[in-house]
Amino acid sequence: MQKTTYLADEAALLSLASRLAQNVTRYHDRLSAPGLTIYLLGDLGAGKTTFSRGFIQQLGHQGHVKSPTYTLVETYELPPWTVHHFDLYRLADAEELEFMGIRDYLGSDRIVLAEWPQRGEGYLPSPDLTITIDYVDTARSITINALTERGRVLLDTIEC
Ligand code: ADP
Ligand code: MG
Repeated sequence: MQKTTYLADEAALLSLASRLAQNVTRYHDRLSAPGLTIYLLGDLGAGKTTFSRGFIQQLGHQGHVKSPTYTLVETYELPPWTVHHFDLYRLADAEELEFMGIRDYLGSDRIVLAEWPQRGEGYLPSPDLTITIDYVDTARSITINALTERGRVLLDTIEC
C-alpha cells in the first residue's frame, strides 16, 4: 500500500504526522509486539525531524523534540510506548550501532523512527513504513509506503 500527498506547509506535515500517531494509539494491540519501525527518507531540510516532532508530541511528549544529529538517538518514554528517534547522518560505520547496544533498543512496545536509516543497514530493524519527503519548490510532497501488515494497519485509514 502506498499513499502520496502534497503538503503546502509545515502545519500540513505536522497534521499528517499526528494522524499517523493517533492510529498508533488506536491500534496499539495490533502493533505492540514487537512494535513499529518507520524509516524517514529525504534530503537535508526536507522535514524528517519535523515529522518526528509531530508524531512524538501526539504520543504525549510535551516538550521540545531535539534533533538527534549529534547524539544519534533520543529516547522518549510515552506509555505504553518507548520511542527511539534515530538520526544516523553522522554514523561513520553501521557497526557502531552494535557498540551502542542497538539490541537493547528493540524490545516490545517500542517505536523506532529513523532518519538516514541507510547508514544503519543491517543493524536497524526492517521498516513497517517508509516515509519519503521531497521538495516541491518551497513546499513538499510525501509518499508513505506500508511494507508489512502492521504498516498497513496504520496507513489504511489515513486520508491523503
Ligand atoms: P530534516 O530533518 O529532514 O533535515 P527538518 O525537519 O529539520 O528537516 O527541517 C524541515 C524544514 O522544512 C523546517 O524548517 C520546516 O519548517 C520546513 N517544512 C516542513 N514541512 C514543510 C512544508 N510542507 N512546506 C514547506 N516547508 C516545510
Ligand atoms: Mg533531521
